[in-house]
Amino acid sequence: MSAKYIITVLCLATLMVACKPENGNADMVFDTSFKGARLSKVENIGEKKYVGYVHPESEPVNKSPWFAFAVTSKVKKNIELRLEYGTHKHRYIPKLSTDKVHWKPMELNKIKVDTTLGTATLLLEVSPKKLYVAAQEIETSVDTYGWMKKYVDGDYGVNLKVAGKTALNNANYVLEHEKKDVEDFIVLVARQHPPEIPGGTIGFKSFYETVFSSSETAKKFREKFNIYTFPLLNPDGADKGNWRHNANGVDLNRDWIDFTQPETKMVRQFVADKVEQGGKIRFALDFHTSYSGPYMLVLDSINETKTSGVIPKWIETIESTSSFKVEARQRSQELPYCYNYFFNTYVAEAVTYEEGDEINRDTIRKRASVYAEKLMQTLLEKQKNNAFTK
Ligand SMILES: [Zn+2]
Repeated sequence: MSAKYIITVLCLATLMVACKPENGNADMVFDTSFKGARLSKVENIGEKKYVGYVHPESEPVNKSPWFAFAVTSKVKKNIELRLEYGTHKHRYIPKLSTDKVHWKPMELNKIKVDTTLGTATLLLEVSPKKLYVAAQEIETSVDTYGWMKKYVDGDYGVNLKVAGKTALNNANYVLEHEKKDVEDFIVLVARQHPPEIPGGTIGFKSFYETVFSSSETAKKFREKFNIYTFPLLNPDGADKGNWRHNANGVDLNRDWIDFTQPETKMVRQFVADKVEQGGKIRFALDFHTSYSGPYMLVLDSINETKTSGVIPKWIETIESTSSFKVEARQRSQELPYCYNYFFNTYVAEAVTYEEGDEINRDTIRKRASVYAEKLMQTLLEKQKNNAFTK
């Protein structure tokens, strides 16, 4: 978002509240000057009443209307802010924060959703202290790359490499945990879709942290499997506050047959190189979030028989040793999704890991951790029994 654009938003907001824009002494400021922000325009429509317009990066677009902004007021007061999405409808329960680190969902009695118009009116307490309001917790490239530092700088044997470039020519990263004499490997892909924080960031991070934990299973797994991780496949989209797409306006998770985008091409080339060098891909996970999650997209019943059965064994282990029940949804392998690429190209088992929009964050972390532990156990057992298909 350009600086000029930010000023437009501020002036519209400030002009409408009888402030003094000539000296910048604004009574109310809506701020979209940070990475991940999205709020297209604000209007003052009455005493302490505002309308915020939220538009997508391009059309057509998935029904995932991301918004993120900060608001400050010279004096503490309650305002009403109606969010309008054009032809789209409100979806996410707004999350609030004063530091962009700690977030909590808005209380439901402070949100009035008009399901016919698709708008949501938020009752916000504003003050001189900056209040961040966003569709989900804000996680930009700065946040994800900051989280990675622990593994890259620490004693984890993780190397950070530039695997390619994004549509905006930014570096795009892979985290490599690789031992030279190890052939079997897994691939983790996260955050193709910018707003999908619950699974794409919170679940993914917990999964990764479990794989790199000091549990006996994790330590053994890291001895026996190489782990290649794309922690934020769409950093441009995340930083621009996109609803769905990369910077070229393309849904990356519909690009795994045509490979028109630098982000998907990058993963394809990376995996092809590893296989060329003798690596054997044994599993892949692609982390997402859906309105109706949690669930996993898995192989259809015919294709499942061509595999060594990691997925059924994994699910059985999760359900028999924890309180989690796995909803596995079978999808056609003809769909241009990431997980199908791994199966269609390498007969590697893979899943789309979907969390739900508003699932309790501790539950998301716990689920991902259990799933990671049980997947590692399952893969180690298959390896030990020489049960991989080829
Ligand atoms: Zn998604």
